[in-house]
Amino acid sequence: MNNADLVARSLARVWHPCTQMQDHERELPLVPVKAAEGAWLEDFEGKRYLDAISSWWTNLFGHRHPLIVERLKAQLDRLDHVLLAGFTHEPAVRLAEQLCALSHLDRCFFSDNGSASVEVALKMSFHYWRNAGETGRTRFISLENAYHGETMGALAVGGAGMYRDPYAPLLLQPVQVPGPDCFHRTPGESWEDYSRRQFVHVQAALEHHAGEVCAVIVEPLVQAAAGMRMYHPVYLRMLREACDKHRVHLILDEIATGFGRTGRMFAGEWAGVTPDLMCVSKGLTGGTLPLAATLAREDIYQAFYADHAAGKAFLHSHSYTGNPLACAAALATLEIFGQRDWMAHNRGLGHLMWMAVSPLLQHPHVAEVRQQGMIVAIELAQSVAKRQPFPRAERRGLRVYRHALGQGVLLRPLGDIIYFMPPYIVSPEEIGRMAQVAIDGIQLATA
Ligand code: PMP
Repeated sequence: MNNADLVARSLARVWHPCTQMQDHERELPLVPVKAAEGAWLEDFEGKRYLDAISSWWTNLFGHRHPLIVERLKAQLDRLDHVLLAGFTHEPAVRLAEQLCALSHLDRCFFSDNGSASVEVALKMSFHYWRNAGETGRTRFISLENAYHGETMGALAVGGAGMYRDPYAPLLLQPVQVPGPDCFHRTPGESWEDYSRRQFVHVQAALEHHAGEVCAVIVEPLVQAAAGMRMYHPVYLRMLREACDKHRVHLILDEIATGFGRTGRMFAGEWAGVTPDLMCVSKGLTGGTLPLAATLAREDIYQAFYADHAAGKAFLHSHSYTGNPLACAAALATLEIFGQRDWMAHNRGLGHLMWMAVSPLLQHPHVAEVRQQGMIVAIELAQSVAKRQPFPRAERRGLRVYRHALGQGVLLRPLGDIIYFMPPYIVSPEEIGRMAQVAIDGIQLATA
């Protein structure tokens, strides 16, 4: 096997995700990967790529972390898979116990990917109100620019038009409100003040629709897929209070932000907020296997607990729910978290990332550099003063992507927003390298 063979065969048969396949003929080289270790990917000719985005934000401790590999092999020697309906196994039980303890929630429902865990949360919330006799609650409140996944329910509560619009006639109709994206604060205004100011939109929606709403769903602190759009924890604190006041569930989608990414185990912790339902996936298995969980408060669980004849059970199911191998990888990942103070470590790395890109603060086409823990994002603009983006068709971000690939760094900009979201084992030298490649790429792409 060589690079060219694999690419040709892939293009002949594999329909790649999130891609206009025609781009692979010209603009976008398809990158074959033979192996991976630590923060690095390697192709068939020995070319290496620094995985600065943790393979779509999944990889926490590097590829093929020895402890995860060891635990997975041991699990494979004992139990590969068994259905979780009517049967149980140790990895699922131990993982559910640990996730409940970490999240301060009470019940753990497994699924296999982030979108599915969002579907579960939406269905659980709706079904809770139905079981409680409040059948008029059929809607959700969500934020502009949100991203919660690709399945119909998750897509419906997402706000990014590119993903959602083609399917609009098929989707639920949430009450979508302007969010607290602090990029839009006025000069001199703090993140906190802007986040407070933007709260009026969700507050008004709650006041107006409370009786017909099941839940508010948000990505805590970082609207990731929309371009690492960030806001202040005060928004979550106010949202928790308002949801309590109006008797509406709060769903925190921690799929991108969970497991230390923002410098706390879960981003909601920055606001001291525990949601009613929480979705986790991505980093849960350290980026090894697909797994997700929806964590729920006890009172939600209790609304489904009844005589069989009452027909109140939550009948959602997936064949691979709670797969033992994936659970074993997740348990190993949580064990690695216990080996040192990763949050302090990540705060140090976050500071290094910020310092490394700080020259861009003066760049004439950089409208903002923003950070939340181990996420640093750089927003390009045609006019910084007017916050006017480059025309989409110019695909400036793509130019940065291509430059970085040539230099052996995997950056995958979101439009014209270049970001770093590396594994937590990235070294200071690797940070320096990815920052320099991004700086050079931005220079080339905006010249
Ligand atoms: N929610 C958030 C916040 C996400 O970032 C993502 C994935 N980018 C999802 C949900 C969907 O997860 P998955 O891709 O595993 O379906």
